[in-house]
Amino acid sequence: MKRLAGWKTKFISFTGRVVLVKSVMSAIPNHVMQAAALPIHLCDKLDKINRDFLWGSTNEKRKMHLVGWEKIIRPKEKGGLGIQSAKAKNVALLAKLNWRLYHEKEALWARVLLNKYCSNARMISSNPDGLPSSPNWKAIKVGFLAFSKGIWWRVGNNSRKNVWMERWIRGQALRELIEGLITREDVQLTIADFRGDPEWKWERLSFDLPSCIKERIRAIPFQECGSSEDTLMWKFTKDGNFSTNSAYQNIITDVGMENTFKGAWLWKLDTFPKIRSLFWLCMHDSIPVREVLAGCGIPCNSLCPVCGMQSESINHLLRECQFALYFWSKLWAPNTNLSSQSQSLGKWLYDNCHSNRVHHSSIPWSMIFPFAVWFLWKHHNKVVFDNIPLNMNLHNLCLSQALEFFFCVKKVRKANQRCFIQVSWTKPPEGWFKLNTDGASAGNPSKAGVWGFDKRLQQTLG
Ligand SMILES: [Zn+2]
Repeated sequence: MKRLAGWKTKFISFTGRVVLVKSVMSAIPNHVMQAAALPIHLCDKLDKINRDFLWGSTNEKRKMHLVGWEKIIRPKEKGGLGIQSAKAKNVALLAKLNWRLYHEKEALWARVLLNKYCSNARMISSNPDGLPSSPNWKAIKVGFLAFSKGIWWRVGNNSRKNVWMERWIRGQALRELIEGLITREDVQLTIADFRGDPEWKWERLSFDLPSCIKERIRAIPFQECGSSEDTLMWKFTKDGNFSTNSAYQNIITDVGMENTFKGAWLWKLDTFPKIRSLFWLCMHDSIPVREVLAGCGIPCNSLCPVCGMQSESINHLLRECQFALYFWSKLWAPNTNLSSQSQSLGKWLYDNCHSNRVHHSSIPWSMIFPFAVWFLWKHHNKVVFDNIPLNMNLHNLCLSQALEFFFCVKKVRKANQRCFIQVSWTKPPEGWFKLNTDGASAGNPSKAGVWGFDKRLQQTLG
């Protein structure tokens, strides 16, 4: 709280506050969260501090929170700001502790915990969860559910895993896929006994599996060489390694997150971050215009204070207001910009930001458009709140800033971009031979293969 007071919320932009919340406020409790389950009321308090700071609320003065916290804590591509909720992050970090406990079984810390809390005496107790345990073990138990939902087994070529009970079919156990009674032989069947080459030994099961499940089992890749051990894999990453971010996303998805956000493209716009934030609010239909305020029950005249003709919505302000129409025509906006009034606001923003037209000032329209939206919005606010007259030259100001950005900022960025080199076969100089080679190995040390090809002889040297 002291840190926040020092930052003077009102002097930092919304985008700046997002950065501070992510890099400082959310990062402070990280260390503790890795090994302890924080009480829910403490997590809620941490979230509230972040929330209030983000929207500029203080104890003395409340500010409107324009977008719900449950949306803000989603990843950016799903409509959020990438800020993480304290509780879900805590659980994700504790799932990671479970992952480490499995992979570092021989480490001293893991041996102490496992010997103390997984002893036979505790296991045969009628209520093992009721027995006293340390805060660390309690924390591991808090993260266990998220951990167990995210793991699957990649079976080795001599797997002793149980066919029915272990999650080896892409994260699911056969028992989860098949209902009904199974025999004692079925229960004791291991994957090594069940596996044949090339076909599985379906006859070892007491009944015939549905063909869709057989296909899923046939599609499981087997480790033909290398380790014969079963490997624990993480479901939500491509390489099978645990990542806290993927665990977090899975946890918040669990608590009812349907993804209807259509604006993931806005984070890739090459423009100022403050303009991206404005677009983000537009995509959530959460710009504090009079129509929105009236909808929230705040008593105000909903007519547009600039033209006084229609109710002040963000759509009106940007596309329908007399002043907006004048501004777009003076800016020489492409006809499609003006004639597409029937489009939704989101589609209109998207189309203009991805337009391939070139403006008469010789820079792409898609570069000018975000500045135009920003200038319209800012100027509208100044007219309404600072009582300044309408600026009939706003389009020139907007254009000069877009040109400055294009020639001074964008070009500098371009210089830092990666340089791609086309890789292709080039003919060797006269009198030289070229041997094209490639190789791969299944591990180190392990089986390996190399390959060479002589183009002149048209011969493969295996
Ligand atoms: Zn108007």
